[in-house]
Amino acid sequence: MDAATAARTLFFELTGHSPEGHWSAPGRVNLIGEHTDYNDGFVLPFAIEHRTHAQVGRRDDGRIRVVSTFDPIPVEVALDELDALFPAGRASVPEWSTYPLGIAWALLAASGRTAADVTGVDIAIASDVPVGAGLSSSAAIEGATASALNDVWELGLDRVALAKAGRVAENEAVGAPTGVMDQMASMLGETDAAIFLDCRSLDTTVVPLGFAEAGLEVLVIDTGVKHAHSTGGYGERRAACERGAAAMGVPALRDLQVDDLPEVQAKTDDVTFRRVRHVVTEDQRVLDTVRTLREQGPRAIGELLLASHASMRDDFEISIPELDTAVDAAVSAGAVGARMTGGGFGGAAIALVDRDRRVEVSLAVERAFADAGFAAPHIFTVVPSAGARRDG
Ligand code: ADP
Ligand code: MG
Repeated sequence: MDAATAARTLFFELTGHSPEGHWSAPGRVNLIGEHTDYNDGFVLPFAIEHRTHAQVGRRDDGRIRVVSTFDPIPVEVALDELDALFPAGRASVPEWSTYPLGIAWALLAASGRTAADVTGVDIAIASDVPVGAGLSSSAAIEGATASALNDVWELGLDRVALAKAGRVAENEAVGAPTGVMDQMASMLGETDAAIFLDCRSLDTTVVPLGFAEAGLEVLVIDTGVKHAHSTGGYGERRAACERGAAAMGVPALRDLQVDDLPEVQAKTDDVTFRRVRHVVTEDQRVLDTVRTLREQGPRAIGELLLASHASMRDDFEISIPELDTAVDAAVSAGAVGARMTGGGFGGAAIALVDRDRRVEVSLAVERAFADAGFAAPHIFTVVPSAGARRDG
């Protein structure tokens, strides 16, 4: 059963009647621009065709009820109880439900409404975005719920406001310290295009990718290795970036250019310098990727993807042998380019491949994993696709 039908079935089981509307929002993949977001820099994600679906109907008792295929037990609260549930820490509801309930809470605040201004709702959720594979199932559930409530409650918020509400929900209701890249990609994505995001101004530009016409596909190679933010690597990288910016007297590494790197080297220790060099060169690579896509087309970005990977492996030191193996094997088998994507210490790599080499590249990566004694990777294609929308 597809996820849209699963959500519809779930809604019917929950309420005994049909939903009034159906909304969905996609997961995302970051094409390039890693660990640049919290340095006020640039990222270039795209929405994918894997989506989370929300089937929704109104109720007249001022309550909100959410259910997901993740959990057979629905969660129900009065809308005027949301302010007592959030910000996070006091929530007495299952964690998954803090995403949709947190969205309801954040949207009321963003639109200046109170619980008395809006109708109660039932929301049934199902998804084909895999969780924890670096595809942002969290932005997808936030985007689907936010789009639905914006319409049902007639809030009139634009897509950027809905993306920001997603971040508020995730930061304050769920309690996860994330940026706004994932939500922007999920809300603003377009077919065969990426979203260039300036993480300081939050300005966005739709950048056509031209993958379809060039016969290119993006493979995700999920290593299955789970990363834990709590292991300290992530915090150490952020601290090094802050040290580097302070040493150079700038608000964020975004304010440095490649030409400034010799001065950074003179003013900081070797580790700090290499962390800074990754971020500064990665920002430049995002800008170069946007320009290259415009001027030369998608086949020309392979070198930039590879340089991004090398920088994360050698300077930022967030890769792992599985990710290096995936990238090396994909490129040896003829991929146009490849890099690890996401925060690092596990997760997935992406490879840009000719459609007719997809099988060959996948087999080569699987063979390389087997030879190295790694658990078999999960390999699948993602297609740059449209962002959040009303489906019915
Ligand atoms: P990801 O990298 O996939 O975004 P996160 O940890 O940020 O990983 O978000 C995953 C969490 O989001 C899940 O553990 C769950 O709490 C919530 N979630 C995502 N999709 C759904 C869904 N379809 N139903 C219920 N909860 C979901
Ligand atoms: Mg997430």
